[in-house]
Amino acid sequence: MQKKLVVISIDAMGSADLAGDLSATPTLKEFKEKGTHVKEIEPIYPSLTYPSHTSIVTGVYPKTHGIVNNTKLQSHVASPDWFWYRKDVQVPTLYDVAHEQGLKTAAFLWPVTAKSKIDFNIAEIFPNRIWTNQVLVSLQASSPLFLFEMNRKFGKLRQGIQQPYLDDFVTACAVDTLKRKQPDLTLIHLVDMDSQRHAHGVNSSEANQAFLRQDQRVKKIIDATKAAGTYEQTVFAILGDHYQIDVSKMIRLNHEFANRGWQEMGAAGTTKRGWEVFAKSCDGSTYIYCDKDSSISPEEIRAVIISIEGIEAVYSTAEVVAQGGANNCTFMVRPRGAIILTMNLMARRSKRLKMTRLACRIVIRLFTAFHLGKRTTKQRSCLKGLA
Ligand SMILES: [Zn+2]
Repeated sequence: MQKKLVVISIDAMGSADLAGDLSATPTLKEFKEKGTHVKEIEPIYPSLTYPSHTSIVTGVYPKTHGIVNNTKLQSHVASPDWFWYRKDVQVPTLYDVAHEQGLKTAAFLWPVTAKSKIDFNIAEIFPNRIWTNQVLVSLQASSPLFLFEMNRKFGKLRQGIQQPYLDDFVTACAVDTLKRKQPDLTLIHLVDMDSQRHAHGVNSSEANQAFLRQDQRVKKIIDATKAAGTYEQTVFAILGDHYQIDVSKMIRLNHEFANRGWQEMGAAGTTKRGWEVFAKSCDGSTYIYCDKDSSISPEEIRAVIISIEGIEAVYSTAEVVAQGGANNCTFMVRPRGAIILTMNLMARRSKRLKMTRLACRIVIRLFTAFHLGKRTTKQRSCLKGLA
């Protein structure tokens, strides 16, 4: 009998979550006791969602698969694009190999799968520019007919990309697909607990509640294979992509660089193009990039960085590569303890930029409303649910 594989990624679940008494999460408890439990792993570096998920489906480090951070090196925009698209992954993936072998594949919000050859794919993507919206980006990144169908059935569960509704939608779609399509490979990414930890803290009651919800979602997914009659032939891999720590202090390295004239501040705390030295945050550690024509020596940059209170280590390019990170950075800076190295120079957004964004949003809303008005009621409710 041919085996099937279901991978469930519970974002931000670490070994600490599975170490204690799991009586409140009976599904995970059963898996821990009856399955193969790997108590601890060495994460990739930097241990971020997109690099980690790509390593999970490629088996190689970020320096090899190319997803070295969540977001791209776009210093001049306040919200850089994420590595959403499959084309950014530079090596074959598990789902590519499965597809080539004629196996049926499905993915639900699995990072970096937009515009991939996955048979049934709902890609993780959001509108990052004011001239687009969730409907358009989701449709062009995912399997459009499949997304349309899932949204028609379960779109009512969603409230945009807000949690816990998004994970409820994802779970409902995965359950339906496991029952009706019975894929050979299914990749599921659940983000509820990561979102709650970001918003409320690692050990907050909101995060704890999210952990309970994840257990219930895992149960629904497993039960779907029982209903489909595929449970006995299915291997389940339930994993986390990284852990989190509570942050007590932020260091803005780009602020230090701007003070020395190594870069210039743009709008909304960004760094204008044409910088000589730029710190690109990995939500903890930070890559330091240096323009190839810059006259500033790496020794000078290192001296400035290590003079700042709260820095634990400054890794050279060779040391970063040895740990699996990007090979085109000048340094990687690791902060101490509960300190985060962040990117933007200032937290405030300019009033003018705010007004421009608001005006553009209104225009897009009006355009979308006009466009949807031309469609049938069925299509309209389906599209609205996507936004
Ligand atoms: Zn994550």
